[in-house]
Amino acid sequence: MKGFATFDLLPAILNAVQAAGYPAPTPIQEQAIPHLRAGRDLLGIAQTGTGKTAAFALPILDRLARRRMRPGVRQARALILTPTRELAAQIDTSFATYGAHLNLARAVIYGGVGQQPQVRSMGRGVDILTATPGRLLDLMQQGFVKLDHLEVFVLDEADRMLDMGFIQDVRTVIARLPLVRQTLLFSATMPGEIVHLAQGLLSDPVTVETTPPATTVERVEQKVFFVERSHKRAALVKLLDQDDLTRALVFTRTKHGADKVALDLQKRSIEADALHGNKSQGARERALSRFRNGESKVLVATDIAARGIDINGISHVINFDLPNEPESYVHRIGRTARAGREGVAISLCDGLELPLLRAIEKTIRIRIPVDTQHPHHSDRAAAGESITSMTSATVVNQPVRTVRPARPSRRVVATSSADRSQPMRRTVYPRAAKSNAAS
Ligand code: AMP
Repeated sequence: MKGFATFDLLPAILNAVQAAGYPAPTPIQEQAIPHLRAGRDLLGIAQTGTGKTAAFALPILDRLARRRMRPGVRQARALILTPTRELAAQIDTSFATYGAHLNLARAVIYGGVGQQPQVRSMGRGVDILTATPGRLLDLMQQGFVKLDHLEVFVLDEADRMLDMGFIQDVRTVIARLPLVRQTLLFSATMPGEIVHLAQGLLSDPVTVETTPPATTVERVEQKVFFVERSHKRAALVKLLDQDDLTRALVFTRTKHGADKVALDLQKRSIEADALHGNKSQGARERALSRFRNGESKVLVATDIAARGIDINGISHVINFDLPNEPESYVHRIGRTARAGREGVAISLCDGLELPLLRAIEKTIRIRIPVDTQHPHHSDRAAAGESITSMTSATVVNQPVRTVRPARPSRRVVATSSADRSQPMRRTVYPRAAKSNAAS
């Protein structure tokens, strides 16, 4: 693989990359950086863990440092819009690392904390502003942030913006950007609304698509444990006791579930914290830093809270609950095996979750091996039955359905080309004129 030196980046940037210890560019860096250095717009279909932050940060730093100018009062020269505060903080840290020798001014803006320090940090203007949409818009409306001289705009995790209901805020921000600028859009998936947004936002973009999830997940050793719902906590405790488990990220479906699991582990003297959107910013940062520096061995998180968190050395991802969306499974297990490393992902599946497991397997096109060699294995769960499904009030209260003889199935087998193309559908983009139409 070609090295970073071929990218024609400033020596100060190359030195910082070398200090970060990156042996070679990742595929997205290799494909994107030359085009970004040439000033092109870019559509990056990539998830976190692929090295996409450096793919955009390095050429942006290079551009800003080569053409140094004083940002105007309250202005930013580059804006990176990202959905969560954790991601914003992380991206800002990446800019700090790669730009360590460049002396460019940065600010980071997100909600959930007081606005005054953020307002102050924008006072004299900055070269690089990383922000979440809601707080940014708020500060723009109060006149504390101005983007009239913006040179580069990055929309990160566009599909997640959509999921989290931020897309309208994003559009409002876009409407206030100058027309002449370089624009980059990154998204792990391309739902119709993001395709539409990209068409209006990007001008003659280069499209870079990293390895689809099916290949990414092959690096992770995956297993499924069939267990009764009521045995999941005991099964988790047993799993956490393995010697090779050094740092585990445990996923639950709900915030309440994350709290309950973390509390249960704490009661059993296992160092664990919960991470979800209802926690204060301080509590989230504390939980993350305890996990990062090894004070806690287990972080119990919901999908949205964990999305994009960059923590190296996660040996195990454990799905305490299976996710409703198969794509979330891919994101979850990608938390281990980051940047080429390997990891283990174990899913605790009860009888009611069997259809979710099958949907995941169809998406990743892998049959996940079942581990029956553990004390909580349940044949009943493996057969898609559950004790709760027989007794739970919600199920008992359902109206009785008449069972009709099955109609002959017209379903196409799972390997049809339509299925194979999911979820990383490649889309062809017509040349889009630079306009604010999408905003
Ligand atoms: P990202 O996809 O931007 O969240 O990056 C995922 C992880 O990969 C981060 O921990 C980066 O520090 C790391 N990383 C980025 N580029 C490289 C590279 N070329 N070689 C090795 N690790 C990298």
